[in-house]
Amino acid sequence: MPSITPETFRQIGHELIDDLADFLTRLENLPVNANSTAPAIREALGTDLLPEEGKDPATLVRSVSRVLQAHSCFNSHPGFMGYITAGPLPIGILGDLLAAAINPNVGAWQLSPVATEMERQVIRWIAQFIGYPEDAGGILVSGGNMANYVGIWAARRAMGPADIQQKGLKAGPRQLVAYVSQECHTWIQKTADLFGIGTDHVRWVAVDEERRMDVQSLRAHITADRKAGYQPFLVVGTGGSVSLGVVDPLEALAEVCQTEQLWLHVDGAYGAPAAGLPSASSDLKAVRLADSVALDPHKWFYSPLEAACCLVKNPKHLTDAFSYRPAYYSFEQGEINLVDFGPQNSRGFRALKVWLSFQSLGRLGFIELMEKDIELARYLYERVVQEPELHPFKTALSITTFSFVPHGGDPTDLAFLNALNKGIMEDLQAGGAVFLSNAVVDGRYLLRACLVNFRTQKRHIDQLVELVVERGRARAGARPSVDHS
Ligand SMILES: *Cc1c(COP(=O)(O)O)cnc(C)c1O
Repeated sequence: MPSITPETFRQIGHELIDDLADFLTRLENLPVNANSTAPAIREALGTDLLPEEGKDPATLVRSVSRVLQAHSCFNSHPGFMGYITAGPLPIGILGDLLAAAINPNVGAWQLSPVATEMERQVIRWIAQFIGYPEDAGGILVSGGNMANYVGIWAARRAMGPADIQQKGLKAGPRQLVAYVSQECHTWIQKTADLFGIGTDHVRWVAVDEERRMDVQSLRAHITADRKAGYQPFLVVGTGGSVSLGVVDPLEALAEVCQTEQLWLHVDGAYGAPAAGLPSASSDLKAVRLADSVALDPHKWFYSPLEAACCLVKNPKHLTDAFSYRPAYYSFEQGEINLVDFGPQNSRGFRALKVWLSFQSLGRLGFIELMEKDIELARYLYERVVQEPELHPFKTALSITTFSFVPHGGDPTDLAFLNALNKGIMEDLQAGGAVFLSNAVVDGRYLLRACLVNFRTQKRHIDQLVELVVERGRARAGARPSVDHS
């Protein structure tokens, strides 16, 4: 059996680090997205038959690194502006390697004394960064969806019938209902299903012309629901919507929740870190008023996947929801056992990569990177405004949305324009220079660039604009012209 001796480990490791350093240097010259087909990737990976005998580890690591570099979609590439997934800070990459080497199980203090203390510290730093109470409870989880589940889990325990953990769906005489805006991300449906609330009991509150939750409608829904015998328990505000980067009127939502005695959860998976910027709006800063906040270090804190965080203002609400003390765990009572603060049992060392990033950049370093992302999104908006064929829709936080309308084209001909803009996005994704995604607002298909990418520069934005115009013209020119006059 080819085992790895300490000496081989050292050699393979050195070679791998050299290989990755080269990869990061060459990244800009690679296509953002290899656009490989599944058959091509399967061929590169080799047979589906489980290997009977082991192979030489040095060759394996070398060849799998080649396959990954040849066939992946690189969110670290400066042209990647498609989804809110950041390329990782190099120190985070090293952090994950170190974390795996020590491999603490961060469910129990005893099994992970340093790692637990680092996670506790990271939670506090995140809270300090966004202006959230420093004595809040918190936990790191895998992603924004999970972080939102944790918040709602705590909310349901705190606001639902006292015996909801015991009686489940049969607890309490009244059906729980939750309020979200029409821009809310799909985690809410999964959560409503998972916690037995049911998607029929999620109220999709109307948005204003800025796509922010309409507070009057929210109030009207709550009143109507109380009258009809429901039990409102939760308002979800979004701090940076996934499509457009819009921030709900969080200050006003906090006020409604205060008067109505409801839990305010803020989905800040994308945008909550921006609450720590000097330029943050008063609404974004109002995340501090939320009972719970979800945010993703693997988005705007540039951490490698996966790292998300749920902060809960009163730590007791987390332990009320998650702490059970079975006989088979005799963990010390005095210290924090993170198993009591979240849904996971065995837990990995996510905190290290985030901890290292905070230490190496500091608060000011993060502010600089995030402000640059916002600046680039605004620069894109200005470029769009200058191009006669490009129609700006919005720029909010670090997301800019726009569309291509050909010279003489009818801006109300949505069927044509939507197909055209979808085609442009597909051309760009296939081209490999830049990677965009889309948003759909009131039936209008928009091109969407979101910047959580510390490698992107103005020239990549210029290139994006040129490519969109070029592809738009090529596609519109290929269409038999229609006389709209
Ligand atoms: C990205 C995002 C999510 C989901 O987060 P994941 O980390 O992808 O699970 C939820 N809400 C918003 C607003 C997001 O931007």
